[in-house]
Amino acid sequence: MKIKHIDHIGVAVKSIEQAGKFYTEMLGLGIEDVENVIEQKVNVAFIPITDSEVELLESTDPDGPVAKYIDSRGEGVQHIAFRVENIEEALEELKEKGVRLIDQAPRKGAGGAKIAFIHPKETNGVLVEICER
Ligand code: ZN
Repeated sequence: MKIKHIDHIGVAVKSIEQAGKFYTEMLGLGIEDVENVIEQKVNVAFIPITDSEVELLESTDPDGPVAKYIDSRGEGVQHIAFRVENIEEALEELKEKGVRLIDQAPRKGAGGAKIAFIHPKETNGVLVEICER
């Protein structure tokens, strides 16, 4: 597979409005857009930095994955996403190599991306996403 670059780093936060101030007021970055991803029960704020982004993830539902993450581990870096050229090919390659996946097939992520997660047991505890856009 061809990994192009780090697409984004997902940061679980209780409030985009509160957490976003650090990135905008202290770091001088800009929140480009905030999108509601219904399937994931999150609002996602995109903070672009050259080819990558910080994505602030705010749960819209106490039962959503980000809310559960914050309940058990607190706010902080939740996942790292690598951009691949072709996500279907990347998933096939990972399956052939016996890598455990959370998503067997790509699903729809924020910003119109196709995304899939690798099981954190394969990555020493880091939740790794691959994405294509
Ligand atoms: Zn992501």
